[in-house]
This record gives sequence, structure tokens and C-alpha cells, in this order.
Amino acid sequence: MPLKIFVDSWQEKLQYVNNYKQALSNNIFKVISLAAKELQLESYVIGGFVRDYILQRGEHKDIDIVAVGSGIELAKKVSSLLPHKPKVQIFKTYGTAMLRAYDMEVEFVGARKESYSEESRNPEVETGTLEDDQNRRDFTINALALSLNDETYGDLLDPFNGLQDLSAGVIRTPLDPDVTYSDDPLRMLRAIRFASQLQFRIEKDSLQAITRNRNRIKIISRERIVDELNKILLSPKPSVGFSLLHKTGMLGLLLPELTALEGIDEIEGQRHKDNFWHTLEVVDNISENTNDLWLRWAALLHDIGKAPTKKFDENLGWTFHGHEFVGSKMVYKLFKRLKMPLNEKMKFVQKMVYMSSRPIVLSQEVTDSAVRRLIFDAGEDIEDLMTLCEADITTKNPRRYRRYHNNFKVVRQKIKEVEERDHVRNFQPPVSGEEIMETFDLKPSREIGVIKDAIKEAILEGVIPNEYDAAREFMLQKGKEIGLSPK
Ligand code: ATP
Ligand code: MG
Repeated sequence: MPLKIFVDSWQEKLQYVNNYKQALSNNIFKVISLAAKELQLESYVIGGFVRDYILQRGEHKDIDIVAVGSGIELAKKVSSLLPHKPKVQIFKTYGTAMLRAYDMEVEFVGARKESYSEESRNPEVETGTLEDDQNRRDFTINALALSLNDETYGDLLDPFNGLQDLSAGVIRTPLDPDVTYSDDPLRMLRAIRFASQLQFRIEKDSLQAITRNRNRIKIISRERIVDELNKILLSPKPSVGFSLLHKTGMLGLLLPELTALEGIDEIEGQRHKDNFWHTLEVVDNISENTNDLWLRWAALLHDIGKAPTKKFDENLGWTFHGHEFVGSKMVYKLFKRLKMPLNEKMKFVQKMVYMSSRPIVLSQEVTDSAVRRLIFDAGEDIEDLMTLCEADITTKNPRRYRRYHNNFKVVRQKIKEVEERDHVRNFQPPVSGEEIMETFDLKPSREIGVIKDAIKEAILEGVIPNEYDAAREFMLQKGKEIGLSPK
């Protein structure tokens, strides 16, 4: 492919691409080139590495190599030429091989032709040419290949004008999109994920084909689906991906809890906000302040309890009583349904959803005791909770916007002061259960819990400071009240 022509016509955008050899100056490519030469076969770098190199997206850590011939043999040869002789992992069923070198994962595959059946996304495979292999790629921007062959080293092979699509920011399938998406429905999610990661648009026919083929997503494993959802959530502006999921009707199939939030009802002239679009704004907001996947999940799910709890009350207007509690229960069901991990991460998301309104309530009246309770309940997660609540501010009224942010500033300041003084973040009761038993000569019993709780409450309420002497004094007094006497 006469690369120079492309470079000339997109000089502004792709100025830096004057020599792809630069990308291939890396040792590993030289070694692969040499190995392929010894085996007398052609080899190419293809896919994500090439795409991300051209986009200057930072280093792409996995490299895909196509051999016109056996990918497994090429991998073995490459390993034998490398000083550290890396282990070659072979995946016989897929005819691929992988090795690690220079901090990168290099995957080798023989050029192939694929044909699909209705029920499965695993195709029949036969050996093919480089073009066959480029034909089976999902998007034009993922079908770009760089030659590792001596005479053409560094040349770009771009049969579908992928470079043009990269420059224009377009996701397009090399072949008929209906066939591409129906063959392997995971590609629908990949299209949306790339659109979100790269902030590209999906070309019109493709978008329509995704909409038509959306139900095919049911043949994809939940783990794969979650992988893509996570990548969408981790993209710079996740609303790009979620809006596309919504637009194509895929969202309702994957996360019906979110589509249930859509819409605005009006009764007696009173309206509530559209909690679906609000949620997407919150996710975008939080993404400016955190890269933590689970905090982003929390933002995505923080309002899901609002659909099942929505009521109109004649005096109060629209209410969503207990939506935080209901929402946190729904988090568990959603994680379970999608086969996501039911571990500490899920508990964190539940906790964030459950506590998501607490700082808001507090910001209306900041008392020391309310702040102590918030710190006590949130523990280590107090910072994340504040980040979530600030992201939750989506009002378009500038005065209100400033006021809400200011309120949270006050809350943050108060949290700092109270925390410095009272140390309730990782609350350890200043008087232990053993000491209570010892003092009143008690066996393990209900009374001990009652006294411990009373001490904790007194500290949180500010009746006594979080200190040993005061707590011991309080314990003796409390014991007396419930009819105990020290031994
Ligand atoms: P990333 O690594 O960021 O996920 P990538 O494009 O490198 O992006 P991989 O999953 O690593 O994605 O796949 C490498 C290449 O394999 C892709 O660029 C594409 O050419 C091809 N590919 C991957 N998955 C599919 C698929 N489902 N259908 C067709 N081609 C695919
Ligand atoms: Mg990759």
C-alpha cells in the first residue's frame, strides 16, 4: 500500500506517521522478522498494536502477529532466537501461541479464513492468506497490518481504508455489518466499547446492524460481556458507550435496571428528573476524578433502587423512599446475574449505593455528631463516598451548582476537623469487651454488648470524647444504671 499518499493527505492529523519502521525498531519485531525469514514465511503485526501506535495511545501491551503459515512454529522459532528463551504457550484448539518478551505479550496466529454457524461464535477455520485474515477482523481500524518481511519491512497494509477511518474517528466493519455482527455478536459490544474508548462514532449501517442483531448477544458468555462493560466504564467518557448501548436497544438486554430509570412522569404538574440520563452524567462526572472501576460501577448503579420505589405522594410529590437500601440489594442480584465477583468489590459497590444519600442529608445541617456517624459508617471509604456525592450534582442551575459544591466543601472540611480530633474512622472501642467482663465479673452475655454500644453511641453523639478515661467512667455509670456493680 503506498503509504506516502495517506500521509500526505492526512498530514495534519497523522503528521507523526512518516515511517512505520519507527514503530518496529523495537527488538522483538526484528527477532520475529528474522525468525519468519528462517522459516521462509511472511509475518505481519496486526490489530490493536498498529491501531494504537497510529493513534499514539500509549503503549499497547499485547502484540498480535499473523504468520502466513504456522503461527505456532513461528512462536517457537522466535523463542529459540531470544536470549531468555521464553516459554511458548500453545493453544492447540485455536492454532495460536503466546510468549512474553520485553514486558509484552506476543500472540501468534496463522493467517486464516473463518466460517460461522448460527449457534456459536466459534468459527470453522481453514488456512488462508493475509487478506483472508484481514477479512475476518472486526473493524477496518483493527485490520491494519505492518509488514515484518525484509523487502517491505514497515509497510502498512490497509485494504479497507482503516487509516482513513482512524483519522476520521469511524468504526466500520470490513465486510457486511449484518454478517459481521451476526457471526460473532461480541463484536457489537466491541464496536460500542471502541467508540467509547476512542471517542469514535459508529458508522450508520453498522449502528443499524447492531440494533437489528442485538438479540444475538445472548449467545455470548457473561464473562465476555462484563469484560466489555468494564472497558466501557473505564473509558474517558463512559456515557458515549452507554448511550450507544441504549440507542441500539442492547442496554435493556444487559442492564434492565438502568433502562427502568428512563422517563419522566408528571402528576399534578410535578415532575421528577430522568434518572437514566442523570445517571450517565454522574458516571461521566466521577470519571473525571477516579479511575477506580468499582467506584465507577457504584456511580452507574447508585440510583437503580429508584425505579421500584418510585411513588407519588400528594403532600411530598415524587418520592423514592428507601431506594438506597433497595438499590444495594439489587446490586447483589445484578452482580450474580452477570457472574461478576461476589466479593469485597461487590460489597464496596453495595455500601456506596446504600450510603449514597448520606452526605447530601448531612450537607444541609453539618453537626459534629452527624459527621462522626458518617465517618464511623463509611470508614476507609469516606473519600470515595464524597467523590460519588459530588459527582451526583448535575443541576444545570449555576447558583445551585455552586451552592451544592460549597456545601460539600464544608462537609469535607468538617470531616477533616472531626477526624483529627476524634479518630472515629477505624473506630476501636476505647474500653474492650474483656475489660467490661472483668470489671463487672460477667460471663459473655447480652449486657456486655449493651454497654459497648452505649459507649460507642456516647462517643458518636459527643457526650464523651473518644478516650479511655472518659469511656471507663461512662462504663461504670452505665453498668450501675442497668444494675451491675464492679467486683
Ligand atoms: P484491546 O487490546 O484494547 O482490547 P485489540 O484491538 O487489540 O484491543 P484484542 O482483543 O487484543 O483487541 O484483539 C486483537 C485483534 O484481534 C483486534 O485488533 C482484531 O483485529 C482481532 N479481533 C479480536 N476480537 C475479534 C473479534 N471478536 N472478531 C474479529 N476480530 C477480532
Ligand atoms: Mg490487544
